Amino acid sequence: MSGTYTCARCGGTFGKVWSDDEAAAEAAGAFTAAELEDTDVICDDCYQEFMPHLPRIRAEMDQEAAALGITLDELLRRG
Ligand SMILES: [Zn+2]
Repeated sequence: MSGTYTCARCGGTFGKVWSDDEAAAEAAGAFTAAELEDTDVICDDCYQEFMPHLPRIRAEMDQEAAALGITLDELLRRG
């Protein structure tokens, strides 16, 4: 373990400020289990920028799932 991670959004490399357990606990409060499986690691700046868009992204994915006749969880599991 190098103690760093690469942000999937901006591509920057950052030192871990939280333990994996703390980060997982934080993410678990914000995302569903299926979303977590589908979520790449992003840095705090990108996270703060992304969160206000989450309701819109969820709504769009809900519509996509509905159009396919499946649940949102099923859509996320398909990748
Ligand atoms: Zn980033």
